[in-house]
Amino acid sequence: MAPLVRFAPSPTGFLHIGNARPALLNALFARANGGRFLLRLDDTDRERSTEAFAKAIETDLAWLGIVPDLRARQSDRTAVYDDAADKLKALGRLYPCYETPEELERRRKRQLGRGLPPIYDRAALALSDNERAAMEAEGRIPHWRFKLEPRAVAWDDLVRGTAHVDCASLSDPVLVRADGSYLYTLPSVVDDADLGVTHVIRGEDHVTNTGVQVQIFEALGAALPVFGHHNLLTTADGEGLSKRLGHLSLRSLREAGYEPAAVRSLAVLTGSAEAVRAVATMDALAELVNLAHISRAPAKFDPHELDGLNARILHEMPFAEAAERLDALGIPAGIAEPLWLAARANLHRIAEIRDWWQVVAGPVAPVIADAVVTDAALATLPPQPYGPETWKAWTTAIRERTGAKGKALFMPLRLALTGLEHGPDLAALLPLIGRDRAARRLAGEAA
Ligand code: GLU
Repeated sequence: MAPLVRFAPSPTGFLHIGNARPALLNALFARANGGRFLLRLDDTDRERSTEAFAKAIETDLAWLGIVPDLRARQSDRTAVYDDAADKLKALGRLYPCYETPEELERRRKRQLGRGLPPIYDRAALALSDNERAAMEAEGRIPHWRFKLEPRAVAWDDLVRGTAHVDCASLSDPVLVRADGSYLYTLPSVVDDADLGVTHVIRGEDHVTNTGVQVQIFEALGAALPVFGHHNLLTTADGEGLSKRLGHLSLRSLREAGYEPAAVRSLAVLTGSAEAVRAVATMDALAELVNLAHISRAPAKFDPHELDGLNARILHEMPFAEAAERLDALGIPAGIAEPLWLAARANLHRIAEIRDWWQVVAGPVAPVIADAVVTDAALATLPPQPYGPETWKAWTTAIRERTGAKGKALFMPLRLALTGLEHGPDLAALLPLIGRDRAARRLAGEAA
């Protein structure tokens, strides 16, 4: 059966680089295994979920290179959750509880005071029908807890190998709030079962949930998916990423001019068995990533690594991939390809191509550092057309005339032709600058 994976964000904020990790690990797994990718919006928290965040998630995923094959929204699926809840109630696995948050807090403190683990004591399970009726007559509306079986749950984790959670040490989780709305736990299981998710790949912050959710799958008689829990991206000091770290949101990284391939490489290869390096395509990344080789230690990353990765991605980027972006940056189509090939190795961000376009098209204020060299250059400037060999022939002629060589030859030419000390290979730039502008610049004229 072809795998179906899912990425299940809540539309309550912008995706950040830490969320990119599970999104990509799922997408890459699907790609490597001929599977499909479901985007599930976990929007059971109706107050904090917004349409704007839902749209932003799609946009940010598309920028990363992920277009979901399937989509689902939990807010559309309440009826399915109601059926599952009814089934669990009928099985005696979902029971009503009447405690207020204050009562629960008091009990918790008492347990802690006695040195006991603060686990829900199941007092509500012991209520008689009359007691329940009395609670409801008082106007109390129940919330509903799932009755865990007090046993360990074990599974073969794609990342962690054999994993287990001892459910005997957990509180029965609340699945349904007093207002009838669902917490994340039950809808996630129902969706995974109902939509045919075969592999649940998510952060290790969900390991305990998996223990609980396996019991819910089993209670519902649903087939278990395969689970994989990857380490989480953390900052260098070990701090987790929260949605509040705005500068690491995918949209701010995009606005700062980073390439999606650079962000992908950092988000996925950090804390994997592979060295962090610039990997240009999803296919190449899919070949590299093996969930079984992901480390158990936190995946500490340094956002500054993005700069180096970004430059390396640009240095290798084929023109075909850059073409649309160059057009959007206002680079004329006629010159875009040779300009790209000449200048890409000098870029940190793609928008810097405009600076090199400016150097080519002018006006450039030339710097005449050695008039002997620039005068000889002007005198020997060949007629057009210019090609890749023009530079070599020309500079040989200048060398013969002046005796200047090496830096003493090339720096005065670079300063006159570009006004700058550094830049792309002049052999590639000269044909773009052309004879007319080159002549004027060598004569000290802004052109
Ligand atoms: N909405 C949950 C989260 O963002 C999904 C967890 C899961 O993948 O099951 O953490």
